[in-house]
Amino acid sequence: MQSLSWQEQLAQAIRKPTDLLEFAGLEADSIGYSQQAIMQFPVRVPYAFANRIKKNDPNDPILRQVFPYKAEEDEATGFINDPLAELNVQPVHGLLQKYNSRVLSITTGACAVHCRYCFRRHYPYQESSSSSKHWQASLDHIRDDSSIEEVILSGGDPLTLSDRRLQDICSSLANIKHIKRIRFHTRLPIVLPARITTTLLKQITDNDKSIIFVIHSNHANEFDHSVSNAIKRLQEFSVLVLNQSVLLKGINDSVSALIKLSEQLVENNVMPYYLHLLDPVAGAAHYDVPIEQAQQLIQEMQASVSGYLVPKLVKEEIGTASKTLIGK
Ligand SMILES: *Cc1c(COP(=O)(O)O)cnc(C)c1O
Ligand code: SF4
Repeated sequence: MQSLSWQEQLAQAIRKPTDLLEFAGLEADSIGYSQQAIMQFPVRVPYAFANRIKKNDPNDPILRQVFPYKAEEDEATGFINDPLAELNVQPVHGLLQKYNSRVLSITTGACAVHCRYCFRRHYPYQESSSSSKHWQASLDHIRDDSSIEEVILSGGDPLTLSDRRLQDICSSLANIKHIKRIRFHTRLPIVLPARITTTLLKQITDNDKSIIFVIHSNHANEFDHSVSNAIKRLQEFSVLVLNQSVLLKGINDSVSALIKLSEQLVENNVMPYYLHLLDPVAGAAHYDVPIEQAQQLIQEMQASVSGYLVPKLVKEEIGTASKTLIGK
């Protein structure tokens, strides 16, 4: 596996629920899956990530994030297709301007892994992928609005784009004086660490802006040597690395799991940034942790470890000036 390029690893990713179960050492039909759900949001798990699933454990925290359970078909009150009303905050297609001083660009709809709880699982990416003329319009908007200091490259996952495309994006942003920081929201250092090549790093850091990576890991088991090495390479290029997680039932909804994750992050010189309450997206209600329980978990964390090991517990709301802090 190690010698395959990241593109090859992406092309060979697991795409069937039964293959996923077999790879995890479980009977192919031991857990029912939703055919309806995978037609809409297919299974996708690169082997580099699947390798960290512990064999013979139906409750493995990595498996649970990527397996399309039958429960995805359950309707739950309040769980809807566009819970954040993102379709209403786009000055141009694919550019979200919700908060002051920063914008978020949907650079692509593609991801290396499909997280079943993803709040963008119903997003109409085809209409807003900025790979073409939409990026030009976004760039014009960013250039014209000098209140924008930071551009967040998101998606989907921006690192599924080619080196050339990313260099293009970064250099055009670097030419804008009022942009101080370029931030990547990406899961690839975790799920496909081979993506973090020296070539990529040279291209995206070949400018005078601060480069920030907000990676996305939910459980300490997601770390292995290749992940640590990818993070080290980022840091060698002076990239600031932060982590955001989603609080997920049956995956990281315990004080010990959250502390282990933070310790793992800090061991890798990565700061815990956000712990998000699940966004109420249709098909993900089985991952929901009630707010009171989330607050209790954070309180218990605070009472037992160093302050910097405790991420900010936040919730996304419509029409607020920032994410809402809900830790107490
Ligand atoms: C989360 C988010 C941001 C970034 O918020 P920070 O608090 O700066 O991390 C920016 N724009 C949108 C639309 C977001 O959802
Ligand atoms: S990598 Fe991020 S955007 Fe992609 S499916 Fe997972 S949570 Fe969603």
